[in-house]
Amino acid sequence: MLWAASLCILWASFTLGVPVNRERQKLLLISFDGFRWDYDHDVDTPNLDQMAIDGVKAHYVTPPYITVTSPTHFTLLTGRYVENHGVIHNMWFNTTTMEKKPYYQTQFVNEWWDNGTLPIWITAQRQGLKAGSLHFPGTASSYQGQVAMMREVEPIRYNYKNETAWYENTDKVMDWFRDEDLDFVSMYFGEPDGTGHRYGPDSPERREMVKQVDRTVGYIRNSTENYGLTKQLNIIITADHGMTSIYRGAQLEEITLSKIPGFNFQDVSFHLLDYGPSGMLLPKPGKLETIYNALKGAHPHLHVYKKEEMPEHLHFSNNDRILPIILWTDPGYVLNGNLLTVVKKKMRDNRTNNADDLKTTIEATWAS
Ligand SMILES: [Zn+2]
Repeated sequence: MLWAASLCILWASFTLGVPVNRERQKLLLISFDGFRWDYDHDVDTPNLDQMAIDGVKAHYVTPPYITVTSPTHFTLLTGRYVENHGVIHNMWFNTTTMEKKPYYQTQFVNEWWDNGTLPIWITAQRQGLKAGSLHFPGTASSYQGQVAMMREVEPIRYNYKNETAWYENTDKVMDWFRDEDLDFVSMYFGEPDGTGHRYGPDSPERREMVKQVDRTVGYIRNSTENYGLTKQLNIIITADHGMTSIYRGAQLEEITLSKIPGFNFQDVSFHLLDYGPSGMLLPKPGKLETIYNALKGAHPHLHVYKKEEMPEHLHFSNNDRILPIILWTDPGYVLNGNLLTVVKKKMRDNRTNNADDLKTTIEATWAS
């Protein structure tokens, strides 16, 4: 378990490397959505640099497949691969009624999240600790009837970029730690993902947003001091996935399924396509081989797998929610269902997890 292993190393370094402190230790887990592993390489980030000096920093973290926000964040909260925790997509769907719910609405579909694996808040609370969560994917759901003791879910129309709100949210979380004596809080920021999607990972806008992230890290560390929590509060900063550019203009490479000879949407009962470079298909009865044979090898940059033949290291097979045929494209390519699809976003983030651009970051400082 990759993520679990990373965190364990950090726990171990804390246990071994820091003098034992009699005060009960607290942990703040922070995710900056879409913070690619190298986003601090081309921007001045004094506060993140200071964290690395005061604590530890990994070169990168490999996210689980499928590298979209809800599945990867639930891996962070549970330590389990996506096929094991069951939050296999940002979107809830029903293959019988053909319904799909987007990311935000899916946050409120309890059974999508509460399907056997407990997030760390609930495990902590069952062990007598106090847990909270602010905006972290999965916060809105209950788990076996329990919720995080303190929690806040963002409203549907929420400006994820507002720096003032980032500081206010930080103050709120510090209040929870000091006044409610919470032991663990997970805190989510929707950037630099939004800016990366809109302007691209190599844009000046993305670099400006990374500066905002860095200022906020400084604010969080100052608040820790102002709230008198320096000796107790450990901080982990990480993210869910990276991001890569897709080719544009004359170079734009769309792989359009409806143009592939032998492939017919009439053979498909349900699909999750047009959601970036990865997709899933449910064939109509008796049509699995027809679809598979038409798509397999149809494009040099399209990867096609039957669910049970998925590469084992991706751990994206053993779950009833995963559809029988799984597709993804090489970095830089876009997967479309049909010719009418409009590419709305310039960058996507969800393809196989071993491309460098999909790797993300992790840093930690420990109370001393
Ligand atoms: Zn994300």
